[in-house]
Amino acid sequence: MNQRMLGLGSRRSVIREIFEFGKKRAAEIGAENVYDFSLGNPSVEPPQIVTDTLQQLLRDEEPTALHGYTSAQGDAAVREAIAGYIRKTHGVEADANYIYMTCGAAASLTISLSAICVPGDEVITFAPYFTEYKVFSETAGAKLIALDSDPDTFQIDLYKLEEAINERTAAVLINSPNNPSGVVYREETIIRLAQILRNKSAQFGKTIYLITDEPYRELVYGGVTVPYLTKYYPHTVVCYSYSKSLSLPGERIGYVFVNPSADHAKELYLAVCGAGRALGYVCAPSLFQKMIARCQGVTSDVSVYERNRDLLAGALTQYGFSCVRPDGAFYLFVRSPEPDANAFCERAKQFNLLLVPGDDFGCKGYVRIAYCVSPAMIERSLPSFKKLAEEYNLKDCE
Ligand code: PLP
Repeated sequence: MNQRMLGLGSRRSVIREIFEFGKKRAAEIGAENVYDFSLGNPSVEPPQIVTDTLQQLLRDEEPTALHGYTSAQGDAAVREAIAGYIRKTHGVEADANYIYMTCGAAASLTISLSAICVPGDEVITFAPYFTEYKVFSETAGAKLIALDSDPDTFQIDLYKLEEAINERTAAVLINSPNNPSGVVYREETIIRLAQILRNKSAQFGKTIYLITDEPYRELVYGGVTVPYLTKYYPHTVVCYSYSKSLSLPGERIGYVFVNPSADHAKELYLAVCGAGRALGYVCAPSLFQKMIARCQGVTSDVSVYERNRDLLAGALTQYGFSCVRPDGAFYLFVRSPEPDANAFCERAKQFNLLLVPGDDFGCKGYVRIAYCVSPAMIERSLPSFKKLAEEYNLKDCE
């Protein structure tokens, strides 16, 4: 059998491992005494209009049409609704014939990477990065090159990018708002990034594509905006998902959008369709396609995450922990008070705090705290964080 697949299937991810530990511990001491910050599962309910629309569709639509296959790339009317929304909201060109419906951002990424890369290619991303990027790139035959970000801001280090791009670079993959740092890339960063990609594409006589992974686009706080990438660099492929914005991660719905002005856009879109076919990602869930067509522009109430961020980041900083204050997503990326973040997470477990070491995100010496949990759990967890800080003699500013 395929040893790579055997390896991938046999090793549980660190996050899953911690999650399973949490369930065991909850059975021992009660769920209310375990502070599980491991998983990025939205804690806010989907908006009521999502439930209403699903019920309406189930009531009013003819079942064989509602649950039947759509075209491989997704229902034409659904893709038109999305293209219209992109045009209206971001003021960019968008076309239903360049949208491919998928089972969430994971499928969008695997498809896009497989459409762009050939064996031997390199894909550049920036640490910390979503753990599965390596798996998705390798599935596409490419090697993932992760560049360290500026540790003071977790913005992209553009000098490192300039040095790293070479004739094997097929794509640069970015994720903003970022999992796990919560950082949103600033417009000036994007402008410079686009300039570098233009220069390097010219230097190497090929188009270096930009893949943007955007499941957290709408999860931003304090009036921060997330630049729409096709405006800045035309050779862009957008990987979007409704998992977080509509709190529907288990329903598996998202899309790939190839910018119609990208170099070879028609062929690239056909390659996206081909990759979807080759990977078996055809005809994304029909009911959810039809629901999202009617719920464009709707977002879950993300104000809860903002309050969680303020509460947790405020308290942890006060206890002496340090982190870059995140502008988006629902993660805090906290510097481990000892060099080995795994050892720190083990120590945190003694206080029933379940945190994820940053190593798997390509960034040693940090831990990720997913604050998409109930505000009450954060309140209950604070004394444990305080005790943990005291274990390390961190400064207490109280
Ligand atoms: N990309 C990032 C940065 C993520 O955090 C996630 C999920 O947490 C995904 C992609 C996968 O998203 P989906 O559940 O829509 O496949």
